[in-house]
Amino acid sequence: MCGIVSYIGYRPAYDVLIKGLKRLEYRGYDSAGLALIDNQGKLNIYKAKGRVSDLENTIKNQDCIGTVGIAHTRWATHGEPSVKNAHPHCSQSGHLTLIHNGIIENYTSIKQHLLEKGFTFKSDTDTEVLVQLIEYKMLTYDLDLVEGTKSALKHVIGAYAIVVLDDRNPSQLVAARKSSPLVIGIGEGQEEYFLASDVTPIVEYTDQVIYLDDERIAVIERGKDLYISDLENHRQIPDIQRIDVELGQIEKGNYSHYMLKEITEQPRVIADCMRGRISPDRKHIILSAVIDYGYLLVKAKRIIIVACGTSWHAGLIGKQLIEEFCRIPVMVEYASEFRYSNPVVGPDDVVIAISQSGETADTLAAVELAKEKGAFIFGICNAVGSSIPRATNTGCYIHVGPEIGVASTKAFTGQVTVLTMFALALGEKLGALDQAKYEEVIAELVTIPEKMKQTIERNEVVKKLSYVFTYARNFIYLGRGYAYPVALEGALKLKEISYIHAEGYPAAEMKHGPIALIDKEMPVVCIATSNGQYEKVISNIQEIKARDGRVIAIVSDSDTQIRKIADDVIDIPSTIECLDPLLTVIPLQILSYYVAVLKGLDVDMPRNLAKSVTVE
Ligand code: GLU
Repeated sequence: MCGIVSYIGYRPAYDVLIKGLKRLEYRGYDSAGLALIDNQGKLNIYKAKGRVSDLENTIKNQDCIGTVGIAHTRWATHGEPSVKNAHPHCSQSGHLTLIHNGIIENYTSIKQHLLEKGFTFKSDTDTEVLVQLIEYKMLTYDLDLVEGTKSALKHVIGAYAIVVLDDRNPSQLVAARKSSPLVIGIGEGQEEYFLASDVTPIVEYTDQVIYLDDERIAVIERGKDLYISDLENHRQIPDIQRIDVELGQIEKGNYSHYMLKEITEQPRVIADCMRGRISPDRKHIILSAVIDYGYLLVKAKRIIIVACGTSWHAGLIGKQLIEEFCRIPVMVEYASEFRYSNPVVGPDDVVIAISQSGETADTLAAVELAKEKGAFIFGICNAVGSSIPRATNTGCYIHVGPEIGVASTKAFTGQVTVLTMFALALGEKLGALDQAKYEEVIAELVTIPEKMKQTIERNEVVKKLSYVFTYARNFIYLGRGYAYPVALEGALKLKEISYIHAEGYPAAEMKHGPIALIDKEMPVVCIATSNGQYEKVISNIQEIKARDGRVIAIVSDSDTQIRKIADDVIDIPSTIECLDPLLTVIPLQILSYYVAVLKGLDVDMPRNLAKSVTVE
C-alpha cells in the first residue's frame, strides 16, 4: 500500500510526479505530498489531506519548479491521515526529505533513542523516525547520504521502500527497499531516472526498468550509471528489463470507473490469459511451468494454497479444481494466518501462492517460510516482475493487464482460469483425469470469453436490481460446491465498495444458524446454476422463501424451476459446473458496482482500502 514516485532528470519534475501519483492512487489515498528542489537549490514541500487532486488544488497557484523531486500517496499505518502525517517527512535540519512505503516495526525504540539525543518530531508516523535516524548517522559519524542511509537501515526492523533527497546534493536520489516494491525506470542516455512503486508511472517515458531486489540500495545520479549494492557495499550489476505494459492499459478511457472498465474487459483478458496455453487442436493445455517442473509437481503429497482476500476465494475454487482433476489433497490458507501458525509444511508439499500484485506482504512472507521448510513454490500473479514471482520456484502469470480498481474483478477470473489450466495440465500428467473429461473441459474453457461477453451484455437486468437494493442494510450470498467461493466473493465485493454488510455461506449451512436472520428485509443472492446440487439448492431456496426472504437467483439460461420460485432472476449462459464461477461472479461484480454508484460512493477508491497490500 501507499504509492511512491520520484524523478531526477531534465523535465519539470512536478508533472511527472503528479501524473505518477494519480496512477498510483489505487495504493492509498488518504493524503499526498511531494518535495521539489527548485533551480536555486531550495527544497519546497507541499502536502494535502485527501486525494492527489486535493494536493493539486492546494498548490495550484505555486510555481512548483524543479527537475528533481519525490512524491507519495499515503495509506496510513501509523498516525491518522492528516497534513502533518503526510509524506515526504523531513529531518531535523530540514536538509533531508524522505518518502516511505511500509512499516518501521521498531520505530518506538529508535524514536526513544533519538529523543534522548535531542531530536524532536513533528508527526506521529513511523516514517519520520527513519529520516531522522539517517540524519543522526550522517552527523554523528560524518557520513554522506548514501552511507548514512545504509547505516540507518541496518537498525531497521520492518518493511520499506524509500527514496531520500538531500537539498545539498540535488543531483542525487538514494533509494532502498526491503519487502516493499520499488522499480527504477531508466531514461534515454541515463539523462533521467524514474522511481515508483510499480511501473505505471514509468511506462509513458521509458520501457527500460530495473526491479530493485530486496535489501538493496540504489544511488541514482543524473547522467551517471546506477549504483546498486547491498547494505554491506557488495555491488550488484543491475538487471535491466523491458516492460510491455502500454499506456492504454492503465488509462480509464471512456469508462466512468476503472472497476467497470475491468469488469467489461474480462472476455478479452481471459482470452489473453489462455492465449498460447491451449493447443490449436484444443486437446491439450500447454503450461510451461507444468511442463518444466511436472516431474516435481506430480510427486506432491499435498498442495497448500496461500492467499488473501479475493485471491483466497480463487484459491478455494482452485482446491476444488485440483482435487477433482488431480486427486491431490489441497488446503487453502489465509497467508496471514499460515505464516504465524508454525505450519506443518515440508519437501513433500507444493505451495501455490496467489496474489494479483505479487507484492502482498503476508503472501510473500508465507512463501519465504514455506521455501525455508523445503516446499516447492508455485506463484500465480498478475504483475510481471513483482516480488512473489521472483521468490517462487516457478509459476504462471495471469496476464490480465494492470488492475487498478481497488475491488479486484478481472484478476479473480484470471486466477480461476489459470488454476483451471493448472489443474487440467497436472491432472493429465498424473493420469488422474480421463482424456474425454480433459478434452471436454478444455473445449468448454475456450467458449468462456464469449459467454462472459454475453453475461456482461445482460447487465441492464442487474442494474435495475441495484436500484431496488441500494438501501438494503444486509445481504446474504449462498452457493454450494463451486458456487460457495463465488458467494464469498460476491459478499466481499458488496462490502468493499458499497459498504453494505454481506455474508457468504454454503447454502446448506443456513439452517445451522444464519437462517434466523431471514425476514422480508433480507435480500438473499443464491448462485443456483443448473449444475451440481441443483435439487438441493432448490430446497434451500424454498426454506428462505418460507421465511419471507427475498431471493435473487443467478441461474443458467436452461433453468426452468428456480425462476418460478425466486423473486428476481439473473440468467447466465450455461456451462459445465467447474467453469460456472467464471460466469456467475460477473453479475455479482456488476451488482456491487451499480449499488455503490447509486449510493454516490467512490467505487475505485473505497474508504479504508487500498490495493496491493504491502503491509502486514
Ligand atoms: N507507515 C507509513 C505511514 O503510516 C507508510 C504507510 C504506507 O506504506 O502506506 O505513513
